[in-house]
Amino acid sequence: MRMNTKKVKIGSRVIGGNNPILIQSMTNTKTEDAAATIAQIRRLEDAGCEIVRCAVPTMEAAAALGEIKKQVSVPVVADIHFDYRLAVAAIEHGADKIRINPGNIGSPERVRAVVDAARERKIPIRVGVNSGSLEKELVQKYGGVTAEGLVESALGQVRLIEDMGYDNLVISIKSSDVMMCVGAHELLAPRTEHPLHVGITEAGTLTAGNIKSAVGLGLILHQGIGDTIRVSLTGDPVEEVKSAKLILKTLGLRKGGVEVVSCPTCGRTQIDLIGLAGQVETLVSGYDLDIKVAVMGCVVNGPGEAREADLGIAGGIGEGLLIRKGEIIKKLPESELLPALKAELDALLKQKKGS
Ligand code: SF4
Repeated sequence: MRMNTKKVKIGSRVIGGNNPILIQSMTNTKTEDAAATIAQIRRLEDAGCEIVRCAVPTMEAAAALGEIKKQVSVPVVADIHFDYRLAVAAIEHGADKIRINPGNIGSPERVRAVVDAARERKIPIRVGVNSGSLEKELVQKYGGVTAEGLVESALGQVRLIEDMGYDNLVISIKSSDVMMCVGAHELLAPRTEHPLHVGITEAGTLTAGNIKSAVGLGLILHQGIGDTIRVSLTGDPVEEVKSAKLILKTLGLRKGGVEVVSCPTCGRTQIDLIGLAGQVETLVSGYDLDIKVAVMGCVVNGPGEAREADLGIAGGIGEGLLIRKGEIIKKLPESELLPALKAELDALLKQKKGS
């Protein structure tokens, strides 16, 4: 059961309420370089990114948002730290949402200038609190950085903006400590109706980041908490989008796409199954089909597992079986397994388009 949050419009997208949980990522190009940023946003869009965030550390970056906005259709969020003038400029150049940490923007007057600009354009503000920049008083009050401190900080900053008469808000609380982040969301969700953007910050490189994000986001989302998510990875942001999609699908929060199941390989494997599974994963990512594909190393579990799938491959000695809905349709040399699977996928796609 999803928490009932308020609806918030971000460009052409709406989050909150019963709207689907949207996938965000963040560009790692220099935003000032509009061409490079546009190219990366397009790759992210193709991968399934639904909201994109760009760092705006300079006035030049704020100005580049104007060009970026013209060339991409996904909503663009401007990420601002320290300088309220950058936030105001980003809004003027068409940002669909801005992310600030009011704590580092400075005086209430400066926060008010940002709020006024957002109000004029009717764009939401994400109030983002991070464990690394929790206010000193709260660190002292709670004897360190704690979930309680993060929640108090976020709610205090939200109140500051609400008291300025603006409630078009999204909240995020991030910590690289996964269980602290989970605890903070459990405390925060019942205390606010604003939609929540959820992520584990500074999660790490591909393996560590994916595992931490899957555990953290899994525990949070499974409680019905969260309206948008980001998987933070040190690497190509396209990987963040792929991981976010898989997390949502694994939790049953999103349907569609080709699911690949593959065996871990063992002493019975007689084909290059690890290589084949990787190739299959790349191949299927280009198909808009809602099916399961099994890639199995041998005939012990292969045909059985493949029976549960729409399409399957079970390896033999330098050869393999191609299986459709549990039925063996061909025995092929190893080198022909991938092209044969592609032909099956093409046929299913054609069938889908024709229906
Ligand atoms: Fe081993 Fe076959 Fe199981 Fe793969 S499917 S792990 S090759 S027994």
